[in-house]
Amino acid sequence: MIRTDGLTGRVILQGSPGYDEARINFNSRFNKFPKVIVYCEVVEDVVNAILWVRKEQIPFRVRGGGHSYEVYSNVDGGLVIDISRLLRLDINRENRTARIGAGFRLMDLYEALWNQKVTIPAGTCRSVGVSGLTLGGGYGFLSRLMGMTCDNLLEVEVVTAKGKIILANEYQHSNLFWACRGGGDGSFGVITAFTFRVHPIENIVRYKMKWDFADLEKVIRYWQMWAPHVDVRLTSQLFLHRSELSSIGVFIGSEQELKEIMDPLQEATRPKTSHFHYKPWIDVAREFAGRMVRQAKFKNSSAYAYEPLPDEAIEVLMNNLQNAPGQSNMVAFSPYGGSISEVTIDATPFVHRKALFVMQYQSYWSEDAEENKNIQWIKKFRKSMLPYTHGAYRAYCDSKVIDWSTAYFGENFARLKMVKQLYDPEDLFHFEQSIPK
Ligand SMILES: Cc1cc2nc3c(=O)[nH]c(=O)nc-3n(C[C@H](O)[C@H](O)[C@H](O)COP(=O)(O)OP(=O)(O)OC[C@H]3O[C@@H](n4cnc5c(N)ncnc54)[C@H](O)[C@@H]3O)c2cc1C
Repeated sequence: MIRTDGLTGRVILQGSPGYDEARINFNSRFNKFPKVIVYCEVVEDVVNAILWVRKEQIPFRVRGGGHSYEVYSNVDGGLVIDISRLLRLDINRENRTARIGAGFRLMDLYEALWNQKVTIPAGTCRSVGVSGLTLGGGYGFLSRLMGMTCDNLLEVEVVTAKGKIILANEYQHSNLFWACRGGGDGSFGVITAFTFRVHPIENIVRYKMKWDFADLEKVIRYWQMWAPHVDVRLTSQLFLHRSELSSIGVFIGSEQELKEIMDPLQEATRPKTSHFHYKPWIDVAREFAGRMVRQAKFKNSSAYAYEPLPDEAIEVLMNNLQNAPGQSNMVAFSPYGGSISEVTIDATPFVHRKALFVMQYQSYWSEDAEENKNIQWIKKFRKSMLPYTHGAYRAYCDSKVIDWSTAYFGENFARLKMVKQLYDPEDLFHFEQSIPK
């Protein structure tokens, strides 16, 4: 019987009521059974959890929104330190900053910020945690204009491996602060609050377009020369399914202006449908966030294009899509450029500043029998595109990327290791892709 003396917050033991609900993460490809889950209600609960794992010497993981692709925030036989109840929010409209409890999920955060007509550039899915997203980089529809989520970070409150509460920012614990801006997920300490620069926002335009699969070559050829370079107020994402192609995007400006900006793309690619709507930002965020999904079985991976894909790469990509094992398999293209590319490569651990776009290879299924062919499809997809791509995105972690340290962080990995030596030389914060000491 495990002794939980010292643990505070809502403590849920394996086998006790609420355990099955508490142990699940978003990706139901995994089925993990921790011994204990502690929902931390205040920062001291996090401190006690760290002191407890030191004393008990059992493995542990930190969980925010629980959306890690490889479920790196959960562990068989150990403790899950769940910070999803740290939900305090203080907005300072004058300074344009917000101090955010690390437990926020994206849609709840957008709603709360919208009350003050401000926002941060972050991801799309409603239930993704702001924690894992920011600590892994953070990309969304406003990033070309406002930067990656990590670029808007001003300060973090951290419970260290020794159980101390510290503040890290540009002036104090600046190495740790640097690491938290794209390489801080689960490796250095438990982040309990984030202070962000916030941006005023009101109405925006969103568009949607569709094409037939037969238009794939034409659409990719045009989109990749256009989307990373177009007006930074526009982010145009492209989704390639084997049945259909679509694009959705967000523009901070008027509908008329957007139509003019998009004319060349429409002329060149002739979408079969296109719709434009001018509406409040929050309505678009809600629409794109979709309905609440508790869990999904999936395997995703990513790679960056630093150069436009040559025709031969487009053909490889098309063949992969045509051989997809299911209708839900897809590739998403998200454009970079703009503010993302204006930050120097070593300013944060997020290294892919000069990429034109990131591709995310995605596969989803419902029956366990479909798992293997989907995982193989993703593996093969990534491998076949390697000659034309670079690296991978940390927040889309993939356990099958062998040289993950270089793929995610490039030359910034050395400094991450140095920060590990400074803040967690015992390697208490350890998982399959944690920063090693
Ligand atoms: C459906 C879906 C949509 C997504 N959309 C986007 C998108 O639009 N843009 C984008 O950039 N990414 C997106 N992602 C990727 C997402 O950013 C990552 O999966 C992210 O890690 C999820 O964070 P989380 O807090 O929900 O996950 P968790 O599983 O809780 O955590 C992820 C990692 O961060 C660590 N961690 C979490 N909280 C803390 C903390 N407080 N202190 C220290 N370490 C911590 C965990 O230990 C784990 O290693 C999406 C993911 C999914 C599943």
